[in-house]
Amino acid sequence: LLAARGLHKSFGDNHVLRGVDLDVAPGTVHALIGPSGSGKTTVLRSLNGLETPDAGTLRIGDLELDFSRPLGRRERAALHRASAMVFQQHHLFPHLTVLGNVTVGPIRVQGRGKEEARADALALLERVGLREKADAYPSSLSGGQQQRVGIVRALALQPSMLLFDEPTSSLDPELVGEVLAVMTELAAEGWTMAVVTHELGFAREVADEVSFFDEGVVVERGAPEQVFGDPQHERTKRFLQRLQ
Ligand code: ATP
Repeated sequence: LLAARGLHKSFGDNHVLRGVDLDVAPGTVHALIGPSGSGKTTVLRSLNGLETPDAGTLRIGDLELDFSRPLGRRERAALHRASAMVFQQHHLFPHLTVLGNVTVGPIRVQGRGKEEARADALALLERVGLREKADAYPSSLSGGQQQRVGIVRALALQPSMLLFDEPTSSLDPELVGEVLAVMTELAAEGWTMAVVTHELGFAREVADEVSFFDEGVVVERGAPEQVFGDPQHERTKRFLQRLQ
């Protein structure tokens, strides 16, 4: 579904991505792990058009982009539509209800009918156990519930894949489990997912493939059993040892 090749990105003279390749096969979960500042989030944001690499290519579904030339408006819009992002902080609109937050994208951006968008949103909220919160405002929800709404909001856009940027790292430890449970269910349903995460237990159990990032490159990549159980690269070994 997704193939990125040779992504480069600098912020000023900070060369953050130094030739990143990433593949995500349909129906699989790819976990992006590695130390802080290694470029994981920048890659993920590039896949959704929130950052624009300076060089490299990206194929996502039918869309083929070459970042060495400026993207057209249509290409940019198509890239943004191809995936949906779940952020570290959910960024829910405080003045909209849960239902309003979930339907605003489908109605305002995608031009879908109000009734259809509402019915779909309610069905999705039901699936994550939040149907009864449809008319509540975000401030009355727990952090974990807010993040589950963030996930539903991404699903409501009917993307071909989901991108998660450290979706549990701003949560209190006791709320992490409920969000990971929803993500595990989505993976079991066959959603294609790329997940930047510090939850190595989740990466190990749920991911089909893991990429270990360090200093702007993918140092090592493979099945979780291999990367966690028998890391080949010195830097991967050191990173995993530090966490034990
Ligand atoms: P973390 O696990 O801490 O989120 P990461 O591996 O996701 O780290 P990135 O967030 O991609 O790393 O950041 C890589 C580098 O790029 C960092 O040095 C960061 O300061 C820099 N960076 C990221 N976004 C910007 C930006 N918009 N402007 C300037 N520098 C940025």
